[in-house]
Amino acid sequence: MALGVVAHLSQELGPRASGTEQERKAAQYLVSQLEQFGYSAWLQEFTVTTLSPSTSSLTLESPDALSVGVAPLSRSSTGEVKGRLVPAGLARPDELPAEGLAGNIALVERGLITFQEKVNRLAEAGAVGAVIYNNAPGNFRGTLREAGAIPVVSISQEDGARIQELVAAGTVEAVLTVNQEVHPSQNVIAEKPGGPDAIGVVVLGAHYDTVPDVPGANDNASGTAVLLTLAEQLQNQPLPFTVRFIGFGSEELGLRGSRHYLDSLSEQQRRDIIAMLNFDSLGSGESLGVLGDSELVGRLVEIGKEKGIEVRSSSALRGGSSDHASFQRLGIPAVMFVSRDSSRIHTSDDTLEHVNARLLGDAVRLALGLLESGEPLAGKSP
Ligand SMILES: [Zn+2]
Repeated sequence: MALGVVAHLSQELGPRASGTEQERKAAQYLVSQLEQFGYSAWLQEFTVTTLSPSTSSLTLESPDALSVGVAPLSRSSTGEVKGRLVPAGLARPDELPAEGLAGNIALVERGLITFQEKVNRLAEAGAVGAVIYNNAPGNFRGTLREAGAIPVVSISQEDGARIQELVAAGTVEAVLTVNQEVHPSQNVIAEKPGGPDAIGVVVLGAHYDTVPDVPGANDNASGTAVLLTLAEQLQNQPLPFTVRFIGFGSEELGLRGSRHYLDSLSEQQRRDIIAMLNFDSLGSGESLGVLGDSELVGRLVEIGKEKGIEVRSSSALRGGSSDHASFQRLGIPAVMFVSRDSSRIHTSDDTLEHVNARLLGDAVRLALGLLESGEPLAGKSP
């Protein structure tokens, strides 16, 4: 069952970027699966704002008009800026012009230091925009760690070389524009009610969107498959709490789905959530990790020992920021299930053949063990 879900999402549907038609198709697939297991599932809709490569642009105005293909860096600021294009190496401290960059658009190379460090330094020196050219053929998609203070785009290595020649030959004025678009996105929600004596709600969640142009077998068809398998297996299982299954949309844009979900709840509804288990990128490599609430993590490690499942609980595991973080922020005990190998995440190699079916089964058995044992979930009841 679980691998079939990974195959459907990563191969038949393929890339399902946040806020796209493909993401919506994936959501509808989740609804149909949940309905097959006897749940009534619904779409919780919201909108996301994304930067638009197709309407963002870099236009050289002199010596000749020339339009260059750009990709805005995620979290770039938006708007139109004009200025002289000025090269600044890799944007290391000694590479900026002594007179600063006031009113200029900086042209820098990718590499050695983070995009954030480059952009912070350029903005502090007065640059009104930044153009980062690739250090390998073609263009790339970059991400800033924090919201950028100026518009920032990437261009191909080839265009970078061409513009540098023009800049070396004389003054080049340019207009840099970064635009955004609004798109619909959605969460998929289904519930197994816990009866009149229910002690609260346990949320099981996994995001089903991907970054653009990747199959997303591990990130996160793997977690989505575990979520659906749990829904199937818990269908007729009496439990002392309500279980809410949520497929989150637009996680890759910054946990948008989980944030929207929590924002949509009343204070009381938030207090009713006794725990959140998040399944993200848990299908690659040889062992499973659990991160988060120390009591729940401790219990999961014990359950792993009882069932002969290797579980790591190192806080050094990658992937600390996923939808569980939205719940943690509100003080809701949360755990993330994630595997150790994150090497193919956000690449075109994140494909079905690199997904280890055993890890999916391990995650299902561990989560079932925790849900069935009652403790310490019951202890989290408000
Ligand atoms: Zn993910």
